[in-house]
Amino acid sequence: MIGLISATAAGATARDRLASAWPDRTRVYEGPVADAVRRAFTECEELVCFLATGAVVRLVAPLLVGKTTDAGVVCVDEAARYAVPVLGGHGGGANDLARAVGEVLGAEPVVTTATDAVGIAGLDTLGFPAEGAVAAVTRALLDSEPVALTAEVPWPLPPLPVAERGAYAVRVTDRAVEPGEREVLLRPPSLVVGVGASRGAPEEEVLGLVADALREAGLSARSVAELATVDAKAGEPGIVRAAERLGVPVVTYSAEELAAVAVPNPSGAPLAAVGTPSVAEAAALVRGGELLVPKRKSERADGTPAMATCAVVRRPGRGRLAVVGLGPGARDLLTPRAKAELQRASVLVGLDQYVDQIRDLLRPGTRILESGLGAEEERARTAVAEARRGHAVALIGSGDAGVYAMASPALAEASEDIDVVGVPGVTAALAAAAILGAPLGHDHVSISLSDLHTPWEVIERRVQAAAAADIVVTFYNPRSRGRDWQLPKALAILAGHRAPGTPVGVVRNASRPDESARLTTLGALDPATVDMMTVVTVGNTATREIAGRMVTPRGYRWQENTPEVAR
Ligand code: SAH
Repeated sequence: MIGLISATAAGATARDRLASAWPDRTRVYEGPVADAVRRAFTECEELVCFLATGAVVRLVAPLLVGKTTDAGVVCVDEAARYAVPVLGGHGGGANDLARAVGEVLGAEPVVTTATDAVGIAGLDTLGFPAEGAVAAVTRALLDSEPVALTAEVPWPLPPLPVAERGAYAVRVTDRAVEPGEREVLLRPPSLVVGVGASRGAPEEEVLGLVADALREAGLSARSVAELATVDAKAGEPGIVRAAERLGVPVVTYSAEELAAVAVPNPSGAPLAAVGTPSVAEAAALVRGGELLVPKRKSERADGTPAMATCAVVRRPGRGRLAVVGLGPGARDLLTPRAKAELQRASVLVGLDQYVDQIRDLLRPGTRILESGLGAEEERARTAVAEARRGHAVALIGSGDAGVYAMASPALAEASEDIDVVGVPGVTAALAAAAILGAPLGHDHVSISLSDLHTPWEVIERRVQAAAAADIVVTFYNPRSRGRDWQLPKALAILAGHRAPGTPVGVVRNASRPDESARLTTLGALDPATVDMMTVVTVGNTATREIAGRMVTPRGYRWQENTPEVAR
């Protein structure tokens, strides 16, 4: 029972909302507040107090016995903006209660226990059903007790701090098994049920057929992802309603598409009726997978011909590869989407120095595959291979992961059998530009001066073209110990088309703790001051230094009306 206590009119309003949302689980304690809290604390397993946390702490302090027996206590403020578990966060259930109260009242749960702050994914929040000892296994995960994970169906899961063996277990399965006492069964949507039906087939007949097929094959209805059929049956009431009752969508395919699927049991009847020799098997198999139940027909008590067919396929879990740009360095230039993807992935692949940049954001249990400089193609291959095994993988890169980074080698490896998501990041060029002023106000290019993978002739030709076209140029990988002549050479090419006074911005470690930036000119830049942590942005013929900032005018019209850059 949850005891509800309030003092003010506003508190009573929120209290009544909660009481009417959970009529069977709550009891309102009226009367003087101090007395009400004391009574509720001894009589209920949980309390929601519409009172200040301080007041509640003072009232319950003398009553505390121990972590395992004390009631869980949640305080809600006067405006019902926050739900604060003040006592019994885990054992007392107050964290969960605060979240639930938050949902009813639109209040934000303010959870302060350490394990929740580090963010272990809730087993019941994975987007598909969890059965069994959810509370006990979650608690074991939170308390770092060993929890073993078995995945009978490979499916992309968020990271969970699991072990090889353990007293507790998480089992990813679509089979009709019962959970053990200390076990959670996760039901991924891995089963596709293909269905065919004659016009007017009763809903009960379709449902009964599907239920029989699943039961006899030892499969759980909770793992059914969809009912699949041919376009012509999209509105067939028996199928539509059966899907509704199962809580899954109806997915349809054209007869042409289904006719192209190789099936074990084709037949003439559907060919004549809808134009494909198989509906149930073909619709179940069209997206690939393993046929667990070949076509079977419904049985009718009165011996009349069957009106429904079905077949069941286990589809392969699709791994997920997120290619995530971390931005140039500063945490507040990492996008919220990038953060979400990092926390969603159970496997993280990246260069060790980039992993360090975001290690604190990762959820416990994330498998980190880090490697040193170079090894790019191997990293790409590893990331794709992990995704193909059905994992949720994040492949990280600094700036934008698609710019001189991991996205292209990874996508060159990636096959159609995985989902790929790109998360854009703030590039070094953009971060540097923001520091310098507005150097990229008109057309601009980035050119990498690294000739490790690109022949110098190609690089030189591109620099020539940018020079001739009067485009602002940002040089990446400008200069390293072993590569010191490329930058002077590239600058000389630009100097052939631009005045010595052309502004040049040099930004080192943009947005990192030792950030530095300088504004100089094409004539005055000393290449020896540039290294691999740097980008160099060279203005076009209209770029000017204004009040110490680098500004490239937006339009050619403006350019015509402004004084020429001093030559
Ligand atoms: N994907 C990255 C680029 C990687 S190439 C991006 O989108 O920005 C590596 C080069 O990027 C470095 O040699 C340097 O020229 C540049 N670079 C990366 N981060 C930088 C930063 N914070 N400040 C300045 N230059 C940086």
